[in-house]
Order: sequence, then structure tokens, then C-alpha cells
Amino acid sequence: MDKPHVIVIGAGFTGVAVAYDLAKRGMDVTVLERGPIANGTSGRTHGLLHSGARYAVDDQESAIECIDENTILRKIAAQVIEPNGGLFVGIDDSDMNYRDKFIEGCQECHIPLEEYKPEIALRLEPELTKKIRTAILVPDGTFDPLRLALAFAASAKFHGAKFRLFCEVTGFLFDGLGNVTGVKFSDRTKGKMEELSADIVVSATGSWCGEVAEMAGDPNIPIRPTPGVMVTYDQRLCQRVINRLNEPGDGDIIVPQRQMITVGTTSFEADNLDYIPVTEQQVNLMYHRGCELIPSIANTRERGAFMASRPLVDSGLKGRSLARTFKCFDHKVSQNIDGLVTITGGKATTLRLMAEKTVDLVCQKLSFPAACETIETPLISYRQYFSIPNEVN
Ligand SMILES: Cc1cc2nc3c(=O)[nH]c(=O)nc-3n(C[C@H](O)[C@H](O)[C@H](O)COP(=O)(O)OP(=O)(O)OC[C@H]3O[C@@H](n4cnc5c(N)ncnc54)[C@H](O)[C@@H]3O)c2cc1C
Repeated sequence: MDKPHVIVIGAGFTGVAVAYDLAKRGMDVTVLERGPIANGTSGRTHGLLHSGARYAVDDQESAIECIDENTILRKIAAQVIEPNGGLFVGIDDSDMNYRDKFIEGCQECHIPLEEYKPEIALRLEPELTKKIRTAILVPDGTFDPLRLALAFAASAKFHGAKFRLFCEVTGFLFDGLGNVTGVKFSDRTKGKMEELSADIVVSATGSWCGEVAEMAGDPNIPIRPTPGVMVTYDQRLCQRVINRLNEPGDGDIIVPQRQMITVGTTSFEADNLDYIPVTEQQVNLMYHRGCELIPSIANTRERGAFMASRPLVDSGLKGRSLARTFKCFDHKVSQNIDGLVTITGGKATTLRLMAEKTVDLVCQKLSFPAACETIETPLISYRQYFSIPNEVN
């Protein structure tokens, strides 16, 4: 059988992982991205490799996805991961009331944990507040966001995928029945419009996937872009990820990254995804919530504040209640438009699994029998993204 050609729109975590999986299964792949690699949300995350513990009480489907993928990424993407662990720290009565539910949830989701007395936790993390009452260690970690994306992109290129950056998809090509047969795009590096045909187009456009689906004639993708702010401070005040032992809320995660820490995040709705301002009020909130866990943040220089939007799937709930799991949409099913698949939702931590499910659907639609092979093989070095030639005609 001839190799099918698949266009992937978007080179965030999801797009590069989809491109890798498609190419590794033997398909011809072209990635079209309107900016550089990790131009969207993926370039602006905490870099927390979730153990799933954060979701173990209220969103167990996501929690299990996270712990399973955390285990796989530690093997295949060890080059970009610091396996430093994470502490869930209880400092008041409300936290301590949450403790039993938290431990039970982690056990139900097979997330390993170990509880430490305050004096042990303070020995491990001397900058933690002296108000600490308990600390529970889970297998969280830290990843380097850009390098994670580049490692998947390099591995995709190694298997033949082509990357066309600064190429914005502006419309679709259709057959006489309204099915998608390719895309129209603006190549900003050449300043001209082009068209490209494909057997299937995969939209991995994150928070923008609703707009992209509308271009194809499907206004019904239930996507709820949900931004959050993060604030970075100029010293590495903890070695592990520090989480507040409470229901997920604002400013309850502190992630060490090289010689810095990042405090995040908030959760709200925005109208204009291309410009979400960082408000002083949200930055102050991160500062105060961060200081509750690590008081010495007060003596540390703020290095920067940034914002990104989660591409969450709309389940009818609001804000923090929205599930962190992902969904793959076949537009043949939702709007009788064949040739287009959208993948959205999820976490950076679940990028590989999201790609696997998407490519399973692509293979099924194309009757192309190839199994996923991304679980065992380590990714090639992220550095090779720049050295493998990009053979674009
Ligand atoms: C504040 C915050 C903190 C987070 N922290 C973490 C964390 O610590 N750990 C974790 O696991 N997850 C985290 N997440 C979630 C994670 O970052 C996202 O789930 C993930 O980045 C989404 O990746 P994506 O590829 O689906 O979307 P994106 O990264 O947004 O990629 C979509 C891409 O599509 C491109 N695009 C859009 N339209 C077009 C077009 N018309 N033509 C061509 N290209 C187009 C965009 O430029 C973009 O590069 C966080 C999210 C937020 C908001």
C-alpha cells in the first residue's frame, strides 16, 4: 500500500507527538505551524511532569493517564526530565482534612506515595514554611518544555516528518461532498499562499482548535480555552515540586526549573486567545500563595510573569471542575466531514498517549494497519531537531 500523507496542524506538544507517532508507523507527515515549535501553550507551562496526584481525588481518569504516562516518559524522554519527586504539603486544618481523601485517591489510581513528618520534610526542603504539618512524597518531576517538544519533533524528523514553521493554515481544500482533502496556508517565510493535499488532516491546534474546525465547517467542537498565569522567581528555593495538600486551586504549585522556581497558576475564561494580559492582581495572588508554602519567596526577585491557555474539553462544568483528560474528534461523526480529525485537551504529561489514540483513529480511517511503537523506544536527542535536514520541496 502507498504511504498515506497526513498533515498535522500545530507543533505544540500534541502536534509533535502526533507527527512522531504517524512517521514511526510509516506515514508521510507534514507539520504546519504558524510560529516556531511550541509557539502556543506548550512554550509556557510550569514543566511539571504530573504524577497524577493533583487529580487523584476529583478526576481519576486524568490521574491514571498521568501516572501511566509519567512512567513511560521517564524511560523514553529521560534526557529532558528531572526525576526530582513532588511533595504535597499540609499547613492548616483544611489541608489536613483533605489528607485522607488524597491518600485514598492516590492508592485508587496506583500512584505511589510516602508520608513524611515535618522535621524530615524540612530537612529535605529547608525553605518550606515552619507551619508544615505533613508532607506526602509522590513521583512528580520537572521537564524542560522546549526540549520535550524538540525531542519529539527530532524523532519525528528522524522518521521522515517534514516541519514547515511560520506556516499558518487559513482554510481547507474540499472534495465535491464537503470532505477535507488538504489545506490552504500562508507561508510567512516566503510571503505567499500555498495549498497542500493530504489523505487526512489532524488539527492539534490546542486552544485554537475550535476556530480551525470552524474553517472546515464544523462549529461544534466543545473546547473551553482556560488560561492561567505563572510567576517565576530568581532562585531555586526548592529541589522538588511543592504542591499544596488541597483540592486543586490557585497558586498551589511551585516547580523548580534550573536555578529558578515557577509558582502557578490560576484558571479563568478569556475571549481573545491571541492576547491574554497578565494582571497585577493575579501576579500578587501567586506571590501570596507561594509565600504560604515557601516564605523566602518574599526576599527573592521576580523574574517574569507569563500566561497560557489550557485547551480543555467542555464537559458542561466550569473552571477547575473541567476534566484534564483529552478527546479525539472525528469530524465525520460530529459534522459528516471526512478527512479531518481534531485532538485536544489533556496535559503535556499525556502528550504521547494523546498521539497514540489519534494515530489509532487515523490508521482505522485509512485502513492502514500499523501498531503504535512509541512506548518503549527512547526519543533521539532534542539537539538533533536542528541537524536533521528538513526536506521540504
Ligand atoms: C498555565 C498552564 C500551566 C500548565 N502547566 C502544565 C504542567 O506543568 N504540566 C503539564 O503536564 N501540563 C501543563 N499544562 C497543560 C499543557 O501545557 C497543555 O495541555 C499543552 O501545552 C497543550 O499542547 P497543545 O499542543 O495541544 O497546544 P499548543 O501548545 O497551544 O499548540 C497548538 C499549536 O497550534 C498552532 N496553531 C494554532 N492555529 C494554527 C493555524 N491556523 N495554523 C498553524 N498553526 C496553528 C499554535 O501556534 C500552537 O503552536 C499547563 C497549561 C497551562 C495553561
